[in-house]
Amino acid sequence: LKQQNKFEPIRKLGKGTFGEVWLVRQKASLNYLCAIKYVPGSRVEQVHTNREISIHLTCHGHQNVIRIHSHQMIRDDCLIVEEYANNGTLHSRICSGYLTIDLVQRYFKQLIAGLRYIHEKGIVHHDIKPRNLLLSVDNVLKIADFGCSSRFRVYGKLKLITQAVGTTKFWPPECFGRYAYHAQPVDIWSAGIVLYYMVAREVPWNAASEKCYNYNRWKLHQTFNKQVLCVKNNEEIQKTLGRVLETDPCQRATLADIENSEFHKCVYARY
Ligand code: ADP
Repeated sequence: LKQQNKFEPIRKLGKGTFGEVWLVRQKASLNYLCAIKYVPGSRVEQVHTNREISIHLTCHGHQNVIRIHSHQMIRDDCLIVEEYANNGTLHSRICSGYLTIDLVQRYFKQLIAGLRYIHEKGIVHHDIKPRNLLLSVDNVLKIADFGCSSRFRVYGKLKLITQAVGTTKFWPPECFGRYAYHAQPVDIWSAGIVLYYMVAREVPWNAASEKCYNYNRWKLHQTFNKQVLCVKNNEEIQKTLGRVLETDPCQRATLADIENSEFHKCVYARY
């Protein structure tokens, strides 16, 4: 980074699967802060990184998706300059204390808005989880990390995705092979687990296989009732969760269903 002379490294923000992420100051543009993803070169990583950049560039024009400012190769290494989200990840926010119901609603609505945009661009994110949801000033949620994403619509045609990738705790049953695989419902399921996580501060289950889903659906209701009875108006959330965590992807709520749900529309007091 120093050799580049364009950026002044400030601190390491995190470590990803393929490389590190740094907070830097861009010297030329009024000391503008941005995040740089540094991916050291090797052939496998390069192919993966080029794909990730190309997909991310297709869908970064929305306020709920992290923007890519630029990207470049330096010898075999790749630098991706991104918008800096200065309030950390949703995961760290949840770890630091319970969220108020209106904040849960606000983050969920923004996640759904970002997903709508991504899906309209023909892309399925495939790794929606609190560690990949970044927060910037004023609690604006930004979907990040397109490393597991793929295009499900190529030249107007639907392409079936057959490979299950991402994080198993956030996987829907179809990733374990029981149901026919459809692209968008995967992200919707994961968004449901994120919603549950925001309220209960834990995932409803550690899915090891598809077999545990029936038992877990029962457990979901038990733990959810126990843990969030204290949350006012949780009926709307429960209804949304019931529809979003539907095991059959064809029966699962669509983005439009979620947008028209009571939980999406009701007005909670400002936090
Ligand atoms: P992974 O590949 O493991 O999903 P990433 O490489 O996307 O992870 O990012 C690793 C960590 O760096 C994230 O968990 C987050 O804490 C931080 N990070 C990534 N991108 C940004 C950004 N644009 N702004 C602020 N922090 C970021």
